[in-house]
Amino acid sequence: SETFKAVLLREADKKVSAAIEQVPVADLPEGDVTVRVAYTTLNYKDGMVMNGIGRLVRDYPHIPGVDFSGIVESSEHPDYQPGDKVVLTGWRVGEVHWGGYGELARVKGDWLVKLPEGIGLDDAMAIGTAGFTAMLSVDTLERHGLEKDRGDVLVTGAAGGVGSVATAILANLGYSVAGSTGRPEQADYLMDLGVSQVIDRAELAQAPSRPLAGERFAGCIDNVAGTTLSNVLTQMKYGSAVAAVGLAGGNELNTTVLPFLLRGVSILGIDSVICPKERRLAIWKRIATDLPMQKLHHMIERHTLEDLPNLGKKILEGGVRGRTVIEVSGS
Ligand code: NAP
Repeated sequence: SETFKAVLLREADKKVSAAIEQVPVADLPEGDVTVRVAYTTLNYKDGMVMNGIGRLVRDYPHIPGVDFSGIVESSEHPDYQPGDKVVLTGWRVGEVHWGGYGELARVKGDWLVKLPEGIGLDDAMAIGTAGFTAMLSVDTLERHGLEKDRGDVLVTGAAGGVGSVATAILANLGYSVAGSTGRPEQADYLMDLGVSQVIDRAELAQAPSRPLAGERFAGCIDNVAGTTLSNVLTQMKYGSAVAAVGLAGGNELNTTVLPFLLRGVSILGIDSVICPKERRLAIWKRIATDLPMQKLHHMIERHTLEDLPNLGKKILEGGVRGRTVIEVSGS
């Protein structure tokens, strides 16, 4: 019978292992649109899924991949016809549902977005959940009142996927960006993306010694959480906000309420997964205008499906720079 190539996760003795396998087309899950995957990508969450961390996957065997772009092969959904170019991010695809790490994917058409004008199938995966989340974070901070002349906007985990795209968007929009990184050797890379200042991750990583410190940042996109976020909250300017995006440094947050009560600081939660369709479309539209594609091309590495099991380990160790594009069947 017909098969397709995929990264398949299997569980044995409570251990998850990933291998390239030929999967019967008949095993594809239910869904009203079948897509020939052109490209997929690697997000921090894909690293968690491939290594069985966080109990994100309940049923094995499983095909990971939280994002994909591709061409509709068949559709029972009124909005999609064979040949349509589509992109999918989130909706717990790659966690609860089979994802993009295979030549074919079958999903609910309601989760798909038609490829926005000016964005190619491979660019869509250079962006992926990480880039979408970066744009969503900038947009959310601006809705809250972030403005260009208030001072530095901090991006933590700046050399990572969300961090790199957030840096490029903010710099392109005219913000002054401070990028914090644990990889000082990436300073030139971050300068090229547009940071005006590189901060050593260690400087922000200690638990704060006082509930309030000097007012330093006009906004923050935080990918790290833990003590870094505790520390950053004490250094936010009056009336500013932190977009809470990630947990690369742990999922805890210890703080006092003083930054909120005495400085009117806000924490704005960012969710890219269940983000409603209307907002999703608006964010993709903004990506097409506000993310400089030239800079996006500077932050990508290209790989194949075969490389994914190793990359899944590398991203959890903070060893992946910028964004990863995985060619599946190309375009
Ligand atoms: P990524 O490429 O691995 O970026 C994470 C970056 O965080 C790393 O590159 C590293 O940057 C820094 N980092 C890693 N380990 C750290 C540690 N122990 N302490 C301090 N900093 C550390 O991952 P990503 O795909 O961009 O995702 C970033 C984070 O956002 C993840 O936690 C992910 O789960 C989360 N996320 C959330 C959403 C949402 O909807 N809320 C969407 C996408 C991603 P430097 O080397 O520059 O220090």
